[in-house]
Amino acid sequence: MNCKYHNQEKAQWYCHQCDISFCLNCCDINQREIAPRCLLCRTHLESYGVSDKVTPFWNKLSEFNKYPWQKNAYNFLLTYMGIAFVIGLLTDFIPIAMIQLLLLLALYSIGIGYVFTVLTRTARGKFDAPSYDEALTFNSDSMTGKVIGLYLVLFGLGYLGVTFFGTGFVIPYLAVISFSSPAMLIVLAMEKHVTSAVNPARIASCVRAIGWPYLLLFGFSFLIDFSLEFAQSQLHFWLPQAIAYPMLFAALAYFYIVKFNMFGYVAFQYHVELGYGIDSENLIDTDSPEAIEKRLLAKADVYIQEGRFEDAEDVLYDLAQDKRHTVKALERLVRLNMVRRNPAGTIKAANNYYQNPNLPSIGIEALRLYQEILAFEPRFKPMNAKSRAVLVNQMKHKRYLEDVNALASVNEKMQNDVNLPWLMLSRARFESEVMNDDASALSMLNKLLSKYPRGSHQKEAEQLRQVCQSMQQKAPSA
Ligand SMILES: [Zn+2]
Ligand SMILES: [Zn+2]
Repeated sequence: MNCKYHNQEKAQWYCHQCDISFCLNCCDINQREIAPRCLLCRTHLESYGVSDKVTPFWNKLSEFNKYPWQKNAYNFLLTYMGIAFVIGLLTDFIPIAMIQLLLLLALYSIGIGYVFTVLTRTARGKFDAPSYDEALTFNSDSMTGKVIGLYLVLFGLGYLGVTFFGTGFVIPYLAVISFSSPAMLIVLAMEKHVTSAVNPARIASCVRAIGWPYLLLFGFSFLIDFSLEFAQSQLHFWLPQAIAYPMLFAALAYFYIVKFNMFGYVAFQYHVELGYGIDSENLIDTDSPEAIEKRLLAKADVYIQEGRFEDAEDVLYDLAQDKRHTVKALERLVRLNMVRRNPAGTIKAANNYYQNPNLPSIGIEALRLYQEILAFEPRFKPMNAKSRAVLVNQMKHKRYLEDVNALASVNEKMQNDVNLPWLMLSRARFESEVMNDDASALSMLNKLLSKYPRGSHQKEAEQLRQVCQSMQQKAPSA
């Protein structure tokens, strides 16, 4: 089923009150709430699980094996081998145990950062491998700390067990740890707390949520570890130390990427059962500006389609507050007000839009919007010379003559606009280049240069004047 408001997007949430399905972006999410809320009636939404809709993980094994051969992952492996090689050399030359340990820790930290990124990314349903940079921006240091923390806790518990129950405790304890390790790693990656990862109740609920297939997961994970150990023993046996070092780390990274890709897929497949479907952090990218923009625009769509225009306006003005989204939000607001047949609202939003200092970089869009506004409100003109110059610069056809004339006629208020010379220059260029009327362009340029002889426009204006003059001299002979 697809979202009611975005029919290309898969529905992710369902509201019982309204009987409506929403996509991932069509909801209100508060960090501290258990579930997102319906935009229309504010009740908590239910998540559609995906475990019955996606290919089960046991049918995807060959794809997990292919994952490290994706370009991004492959590049990471090569870089990682390079770093391992350099660190191997350094540890040979610096015989100080403390520094050797730190270097090794750095190497592990890079690997841990990458594989945990693989897991959380796959859990969000993104099956392309992250690049090295993406993995580095993931907080790999704190993840390394948590992995070390997890090992320390497990070791401490084992130590206590042996103290109380004797050495007979070791084998069953290791068996339990080994069986629980997929669950522990998934919980650690998704919840990022060592305390949840070692909490027996949480581990049990994770195993129960996956059900019998957990046995398969454990089996596959065990096989991967087994292959890794085999690979390592072979490398140690056959290769000299200097080459074995980067190869060993590459093998380690390779097998862990496969394994964490599989864990991530399991978290994706069972995210509702595991309780992650409602944990927005794991599903929705809340940080990147593109994602924020997409979410707010999606919200505005819902309100617009429901006829709740004031709510839509609030969302869009909210979005416009952030400089990175101002242009898009204001463009939407202009269009929204035109759809509502509201001239005052249209002009208010349009005036804000044409005050954008970066208008020259979006000239084509600015012209398109201007024409749409004219069709609705023929008297509209932006109230500053800079944006008018941008529009005139985009008008490269004779049919624009009337528009250019309208934009070039300025009222009392705009006489003091510092960008007025630029508007005059744009108009002269239109006369010369589009209308082929060099005489009229020349008279405009002369007027411009006599009125505003100095300024940043001067050089361009003089150049254009020269071109016009030489064209005029040629004209009679032609
Ligand atoms: Zn939607
Ligand atoms: Zn609702």
